[in-house]
Amino acid sequence: KSFEEARLPDEVVECCKNFDKPSPIQSHSWPFLLDGRDFIGIAATGSGKTLAFGIPAMMHVLSKRKNKTSKKVNPLCLVLSPTRELAQQIADVLCDAGKPSGVRSVCVYGGTSKGPQISSLKSGVVLDEADRMLDMGFEPEVRSILGQTSSVRQMVMFSATWPLPVHQLAQEFMDPHPVKV
Ligand code: AMP
Repeated sequence: KSFEEARLPDEVVECCKNFDKPSPIQSHSWPFLLDGRDFIGIAATGSGKTLAFGIPAMMHVLSKRKNKTSKKVNPLCLVLSPTRELAQQIADVLCDAGKPSGVRSVCVYGGTSKGPQISSLKSGVVLDEADRMLDMGFEPEVRSILGQTSSVRQMVMFSATWPLPVHQLAQEFMDPHPVKV
C-alpha cells in the first residue's frame, strides 16, 4: 500500500513525506477509521500508531471545520494515554502533523495549571496503550472520562496486549462490532 492509495489530502500526509509507505498498522487502520468505525488495534510501541489514529483524527477535525458545525472550542478528538511522557510525545507528533492543515493539539495533564480544561468532550476518543493504562490502575478514571463523552462518538483503542480487563472495557464502551486488527 502506498500513500497515494490512501487518497489523503497533501497537507494531511505532509508529516509522512520522509516515509516510504504507510506502516502496516496505518494501512490497516486508516480505511476503517476514516469510515468512522470503532476500532481496536493491537500494535506494539514503535509501529507508527500515533499517525495511525492521528491522521484520521485530523481528517475528522477538518471535516467538522468544513461543515462549519464547530466554531466552538470543544475538542473534537480526545486521546488518553497512561503516562505524561507518552501524552507529551503524542501531542508533539500531532502538533507537528497538524501544522500544514491548521489542526491544533494540546497536551493536558495533572499537576500543572488547568488552562485548557477538558470539561466538554465530544465525538472522538482514542485510548492509547489501553493495557498499560489499566495495569497502572487508571480504570476508574478512564471509565469516568468515557462516561462524560458524547454517546455519538468514534472510539479507538490501541493496546500492545489484549487481556480480559481491556477486552471488557471495549465491550462496555464500544459499538457491538468494532473492527479488530
Ligand atoms: P509510533 O509508534 O507512533 O510511536 O511511531 C514510531 C516511529 O515510527 C516514529 O519515529 C515515527 O516517526 C515513525 N513512523 C511513523 N509512521 C511511519 C511510516 N509510515 N514509515 C516509517 N516510519 C514511520
